[in-house]
Amino acid sequence: MNQIRSILHLDADAFYASVEQAADSRLRGKAIAVGGTRRGVVSSASYEARAMGVRTAMPTTKAKKLCPELILIPGDFEKYERFSQLMFAYAYDLTPQVEICSIDEGYLDLTEAAHENPRDSATRLSQLVRENLKITISQGLATTKFCSAVASKLKKPNHFLEVSPGSEFTFLSPLPTRWLPGVGTRTEPLFLQAGLQQIRQVAEMSIHDLERLVGSSAQSLQVFARGIDPRPVIPATPAPKSMGEQETFDADTHDEGFILAVLRTMTDRLCRRLREEGLAARTLTVRIRYRNMEDMARSDSLQDPSPLENDFYPLLAPLLKRTWARSESLRLVGVRLSNLHSALPEPELALTGLPQKSAAERLQLAEASDHLRRRYGKSAILRGHDLWLRKKRSDGEGGCDPLPGPGKN
Ligand SMILES: [Mg+2]
Repeated sequence: MNQIRSILHLDADAFYASVEQAADSRLRGKAIAVGGTRRGVVSSASYEARAMGVRTAMPTTKAKKLCPELILIPGDFEKYERFSQLMFAYAYDLTPQVEICSIDEGYLDLTEAAHENPRDSATRLSQLVRENLKITISQGLATTKFCSAVASKLKKPNHFLEVSPGSEFTFLSPLPTRWLPGVGTRTEPLFLQAGLQQIRQVAEMSIHDLERLVGSSAQSLQVFARGIDPRPVIPATPAPKSMGEQETFDADTHDEGFILAVLRTMTDRLCRRLREEGLAARTLTVRIRYRNMEDMARSDSLQDPSPLENDFYPLLAPLLKRTWARSESLRLVGVRLSNLHSALPEPELALTGLPQKSAAERLQLAEASDHLRRRYGKSAILRGHDLWLRKKRSDGEGGCDPLPGPGKN
């Protein structure tokens, strides 16, 4: 007999902007937005700014036009990470069964924490966070992950919504289909064209018709639409502090083009690992070993954490230049990514499928190519430097066996 589960989803409200307001009382009650310095878009807007029409992923020029008094603040990810850790520390006081999904979202499985009513636990959690961290969270309590996540996002900010056991389908039925996982700017118009507006209609549609619309995801989509979601809460494992790779060359080399291509493929592999683990990095270190065994290393950091190799490529050549200061051939090179965060772009909109920012789209693209490589082999997608390196290696120049790096630490 299956026990009825109590899953609480917590989602901080306008997290980055709220943290800035919590950390600086002068910003409280004001229209502020975090972001804009690099990609030129708002990554988080305070509710005062939202009241003026400012939205996540909006270009900052447009935001300024809508709200001339808007205060723009560059992101401070160390600060957000600290607040996130404190917030989840209160969650861990309730149960060790905490799954952290992103910097400001997570699930708690309160089924076993039966010493108190889950509703009271939720009230206590939001009170502690509000009083001690000066930010607010919204929470959803339900028997499944999906229902609890939707419930937490339906009436933000500072809201608690419970979906009582047995009423999952009734709760989801009238909601627009964009609340379903994976239904976004591409799928929702397809659904609307087919006359599907509410989740209820997706639940009741014949599976063949649904397959015609969304292909292989039809089945899982319909299961979600019917309010069924057996996914367990998976407690987090501690994140690695850094990850790296290095390669010792068979013969010492002077070939800068070759070395850069090697550094790029290492960066590709490391970024794939980042994405697999739901992480993003800020700092990249290039390490070299001269033929006399002397080691040198130089680092540079991105402004925002990123899981995308494309963001790190521009750092490689200047770093190699700074590191490789002597005109002496190299025996070994390595790349290390550190300053790892669970901080991807604030995922407030991920579930609702509202317009997503370009960073999120680039991440989707990268994840799609990771998937192709997993399915069809590493050669399914090759970048320019991969091809170049293949040719170079098969020509017997700069031949070397990749050594696995020292791994996580
Ligand atoms: Mg949030």
